[in-house]
Amino acid sequence: METLSYNEGIIYEFNKDNPFIKKVASGTTLRIETYDCFQNQIQSEETEVANIDWDKINPATGPIYVENAQLGDVLKVKIEKIEIGDQGVMVIGPDLGIMGDRFEKMESKILSIQDDHVIFNDLELPLHKMIGVIGVAPKGDGINCGTPGAHGGNMDNKMVTEGATLYFPVFTEGALFSLGDFHAAMGDGEVSVSGVEVPGAATVTLEVIKGETIRQPLLENDEVFSQIYSAETLDEAAKEATREMIDRIVAKSNLPISDVTMLMSAVGQAEICQIVDPLMTARFVVPKWLLEKLDVTLIG
Ligand code: CA
Ligand code: ZN
Repeated sequence: METLSYNEGIIYEFNKDNPFIKKVASGTTLRIETYDCFQNQIQSEETEVANIDWDKINPATGPIYVENAQLGDVLKVKIEKIEIGDQGVMVIGPDLGIMGDRFEKMESKILSIQDDHVIFNDLELPLHKMIGVIGVAPKGDGINCGTPGAHGGNMDNKMVTEGATLYFPVFTEGALFSLGDFHAAMGDGEVSVSGVEVPGAATVTLEVIKGETIRQPLLENDEVFSQIYSAETLDEAAKEATREMIDRIVAKSNLPISDVTMLMSAVGQAEICQIVDPLMTARFVVPKWLLEKLDVTLIG
């Protein structure tokens, strides 16, 4: 299988005008290497976090042009495998994250990754490998890699992990797919503004789907479908994720919206992805067993 290195190209902004660094046929599986979100600038706790180059944040490897992807199609991205480095970094600091007002200076912590654990001081934390930044070129102006949106981007959704499949709306020819910002662990919210930031590599299969339309990223894993939505406030993100999911189930079934709304209130989950990025990200999660009972196929 082919590997795409970050040396071949990175972006700091998802933009339809970015030149692609690789062209692949729909259905291609490839391995993509990534820097961590600080572009690997913090390798020890001696590094002054305030003095790193803050223009080199959230690099994503890409973009990759997927042949035959056209405006209005869907790009399906299956995350086959996530590999991570053996050391991660976390930071806190003034104005960063939910607790930023409690700190006077930036601090970092280096965490070693051993077997299935992240070592924090002398604590073993469970490993949860995930991808923070993943998406396609947006319509209109570029969007920096720190901001999430309809194109994906910095969604910091801990469900974006091995075995998950993402569906993105295609806004430009070739879709222009990129990814970066892996975490060895992160809780819902990403409250400090950093997960356990690690370099890594993801093996993904990129496939163009014709004849389906989505407005915002959708995620599927073995158990659930999840509608992702990013907005100015968490309230709006959670409400719009819910509406988007309910409207889709109604559109894909013959069920009345009253019943679908009651069913989603009974078994659907409105959840937080992150509450620290320039836009907030929420998801609405529906178990597949219910969709199967309702005979609803959300996306082909
Ligand atoms: Ca992130
Ligand atoms: Zn990150």
